[in-house]
Amino acid sequence: MERGVKTANVKSRSRKHNWVLAGWNALHRATLDVGAEISYEPWEIPELRNRPIADAGCYMALVQPLTQLLVQDLEAPSMRAEPARILIWRKLRMLGRRSHPDLWRLLAEDCQVSDPVQEYHQMQHASQTSVATTVPMSPVLAARHGYKLLWQTDRSDLDQVQRLLWGLALIGWSAHHWEQVATCELCFRFTRPGSRFCYEHTQSQTQDSERSAAYRRYRLGRKVHQLAEQRGKLEFLRGNSMLREARRRLALSDVIFEWEYEADAVADEFENLHDMLNLSPRVLGKLEPGALDLDFETLTEILREILDPYHWDPMLWGLTILQAEFWFSLEEESAPGKRGRGVTAQEQIRRAKALAQQGLRKSQIARELGISASTISQWVARGLY
Ligand SMILES: [Zn+2]
Repeated sequence: MERGVKTANVKSRSRKHNWVLAGWNALHRATLDVGAEISYEPWEIPELRNRPIADAGCYMALVQPLTQLLVQDLEAPSMRAEPARILIWRKLRMLGRRSHPDLWRLLAEDCQVSDPVQEYHQMQHASQTSVATTVPMSPVLAARHGYKLLWQTDRSDLDQVQRLLWGLALIGWSAHHWEQVATCELCFRFTRPGSRFCYEHTQSQTQDSERSAAYRRYRLGRKVHQLAEQRGKLEFLRGNSMLREARRRLALSDVIFEWEYEADAVADEFENLHDMLNLSPRVLGKLEPGALDLDFETLTEILREILDPYHWDPMLWGLTILQAEFWFSLEEESAPGKRGRGVTAQEQIRRAKALAQQGLRKSQIARELGISASTISQWVARGLY
């Protein structure tokens, strides 16, 4: 029921979309998210009624091609964010309508275009000023290309207003996709924009030969999801709806700005990453030996590849590692052939006993055998060990 309603909304929105406004709203929001917003306690400045405040210098640095449209300067050092967004939008609308009425109608007025990226490609191809490809742009590339376009003053084929309109339209198209990025209905991963399931659990877009394997992965995912639910761990695994919304928004701002973090923040994050990996033998087992010696960027790139390709933020991998570790442990528990206490478990108990006799602690034994410490505790409790 609910899904039906959602799909209907998405469809009606894509039919009547003002891509320029959508792009400007998304870029404005991303600018605040990525650091221009000043946080304050509502009681400190009650007259602001909890409205968003931005650092004017930071805001202008991130969206200068748009703030420079304004005749008057923005209030400094801090300003109310919403009036700035509206002022800039009015100015852009006035310029767009006056100097490029056709382009304005195409991108900003009722249902002229359903896919600005395709239009952009055609326009580029026609003018032949750059090597236009016919490969469709991904939402990620569209947002980045759109943001770059805002700054490209050296383009001979597009004037300033045209660049702003196309750039924002591309960002708006991308943002429209990011709105549909969700957490997989089963596990901890993000989905491809518009999908219900992550690459591991999707059954669509698979070749005939892979179909049964995809179905097995989906079945296993469903079992694990149920197991997590029974244990009250779904919220840990997938985040609550507020957290998911925040992650999604930050993902877009990260995609647009390709933000560089400060060295201190990266060093802290790196240390945290190592701590979490050392707690997560299953995740560590998927990495090449020596992965812990890699630099931050390479390590997060590899984590993105093996854990969650749509986790764009270079930060916040610590929680994802713990979620993945928990998910993999439940997968092991639910995997066919691992039910009951088979030969493998007997063998593991025998090896655990041997390691204990060598003086290893429970956590060390668990890591050695690739099982959780609580499994060993359960063996002890049942007198098997
Ligand atoms: Zn999944």
